[in-house]
Amino acid sequence: MQNISSRELHKQIQMHLESLRLSGVEWLENNNNSTLQISEGLAHKSPPVDGEAAVTNLPLPEKSSTHSVLHSLEKKTGLLQLLKEEVANCVKCPQLVQTRKNTVFGVGKIEPDICFVGEAPGSAEDEKGLPFVGEDGLLLDKILKACGLSRDEVYFLNIISCKPPDKRLPLPSEVSNCRGFLEKQLALVKPKVICCLGSCAAENLLDTKIPVNKLRGKFYDWKGIQVLCTYHPLSLLRTPEKKKEVWEDMKFLISHLGRVLPKLGS
Ligand code: SF4
Repeated sequence: MQNISSRELHKQIQMHLESLRLSGVEWLENNNNSTLQISEGLAHKSPPVDGEAAVTNLPLPEKSSTHSVLHSLEKKTGLLQLLKEEVANCVKCPQLVQTRKNTVFGVGKIEPDICFVGEAPGSAEDEKGLPFVGEDGLLLDKILKACGLSRDEVYFLNIISCKPPDKRLPLPSEVSNCRGFLEKQLALVKPKVICCLGSCAAENLLDTKIPVNKLRGKFYDWKGIQVLCTYHPLSLLRTPEKKKEVWEDMKFLISHLGRVLPKLGS
């Protein structure tokens, strides 16, 4: 049997509790018929009884705020890995499960300024198991560079994690099946701003029928995170005239974040 240190055991229990909490589980039944309430990073016994500590002392004392931030990022990395494994084993959409080569989980920086949300993986993404690695990804790289950003400073994900066949749009049932994965991922990644790329991402995230051309130019709220909508890079490949509008949107976003655009040619 594998030896495990108490610190590692403690970490694994915390990750498991956090994973349950993010899945919507609020209470666990104990083997002595009492219940445990799961709150962020803690397990509370409920109801507390006289003379008994109300809180199970799971978190280790933090040494400093830097340590605390690293601990939080480390915990999120672990939880994202667990979620990625859950997505890789997901069989909720029968047609997609039959045709996909890989599931495509999000990738990038945790707690970034911007998280780009696209529609669904395409062929290149399905092949590599990574988001935005096709032609649209190359164009997005150019847009990022023009904004003074690199791939490892932002996060990318899609509304659904499996490639639909024949370049079709995700079905409402597929979007609904994958919604939990999307929401848990966004809750863990916690970007300052979500940038929806294209109508599919914008309409599904914001639960609206307003097309992306009408959503552009202002911020919306999604569970306390600001959302800006613009066109998908694939539509720029089909309609290059839209590049000007995307550039306007990106300048608006960069300035909103208090960042400065790099000088031309730098
Ligand atoms: S699209 Fe999402 S919900 Fe559907 S099979 Fe893939 S991972 Fe599961």
